[in-house]
Amino acid sequence: MSEHFSVERGLFDDVMVPNYSPSAVIPVRGQGSRVWDQQDNEYIDFAGGIAVSSLGHCHPALVSALKDQGEKIWHVSNLLTNEPALRLAKKLVDSTFAEKVYFCNSGAEANEAALKLARRWALEVHGEHKSQIIAFKQGFHGRTFFTVTVGGQTAYSDGFGPKPGNITHAEYNNLESLKALISDNTCAVMIEPLQGEGGVVPADAEFIKGVRELCDQHNALLIFDEVQTGFGRLGEFYAYMGLGVTPDILTSAKGLGGGFPIGAMLTKTNIAKHLTVGTHGSTYGGNPLACAVAEAVFDIVNTETVLADINKKSQLFIDGLNAINAKYNVFTEIRGKGLLIGAELGQQYQGKAVAFLNAAMAEGLLVLVAGASVIRFAPSLVIPDEDIALGLVRFEKAIANFTQQ
Ligand SMILES: *Cc1c(COP(=O)(O)O)cnc(C)c1O
Repeated sequence: MSEHFSVERGLFDDVMVPNYSPSAVIPVRGQGSRVWDQQDNEYIDFAGGIAVSSLGHCHPALVSALKDQGEKIWHVSNLLTNEPALRLAKKLVDSTFAEKVYFCNSGAEANEAALKLARRWALEVHGEHKSQIIAFKQGFHGRTFFTVTVGGQTAYSDGFGPKPGNITHAEYNNLESLKALISDNTCAVMIEPLQGEGGVVPADAEFIKGVRELCDQHNALLIFDEVQTGFGRLGEFYAYMGLGVTPDILTSAKGLGGGFPIGAMLTKTNIAKHLTVGTHGSTYGGNPLACAVAEAVFDIVNTETVLADINKKSQLFIDGLNAINAKYNVFTEIRGKGLLIGAELGQQYQGKAVAFLNAAMAEGLLVLVAGASVIRFAPSLVIPDEDIALGLVRFEKAIANFTQQ
């Protein structure tokens, strides 16, 4: 069958719902930390598909897991269980605080499950009064109506009619502001250990300890949204491990599947037991293909060598960005942890993060933004040091072009 249309950017506007505005560049293949577009232009990938491609593109171990499982069985539904899901769940339980795992297909779904579980737990253990959910301004938890309302940007949740109720927001890194809201009516506090979408803002260690203490005082569940920070991204397998604070529920997605859609919610048995048969579910959640790929990601990422290397690579980024900034003075701060790094633009360039992203793309480099004034880097966790160096050279060229305009 011949194609009577050309597959290019213009087609997007003809046939796609207009909720995205993608660049003109259409990637067609990737290898490691490099991507090629339709015209065979090469890009260094510092974006990782928004902190998703944790082992780069087409990692041989992931391709092999996908092919192997793809020739065995793809889908059975949750009327039956399957080997890859059980293997992955066992590995997650053995390497975290958790005793039970629920699989789904995305970060939003993992958070939706966490919030529903928290509400169910509070209702059954404490009663109807305990339904308040507290989250944080500028936080991001996904786009289902529950999770987007728990997220801390009303711009994303307004305009869809009545919202799920009893959700309030405190200031991130401000314990007093949480103290003023929390009470025995609080069911759960949901927080990112480092706000990703909200501008790459790490939680202060003292703050996060204080959040745990307040939850304990008021019998509220602490939910860590580690959709972006987990699976090695911050240099620990999960970020909570480096903070000395253990949540009651943890959500994981993005890097977990290394590019194959999967999400997970992790928790303790005494909380998990409230999601009894029939209370929640997902047709695809925990399907063999997704779990086989995630297991392959787990086997590589959750090793001492890879985790230690993340912190070395992080330093290469920070040193490189500081050196660029010493020449061009565009950033007021370079922050983050592991391989989730943000560069905050100075006064003169406020609101121009997307323009920098486009300048970088023109030089053959993919980066991300986090809000209007922060450039975000979330490359593969195993990006070769040469690619970091080459990407930074391209980034410097982009900065030079942009600032000399
Ligand atoms: C990306 C993200 C989500 C949403 O994940 P989806 O897979 O897009 O649903 C939720 N929480 C955090 C912290 C995220 O970064």
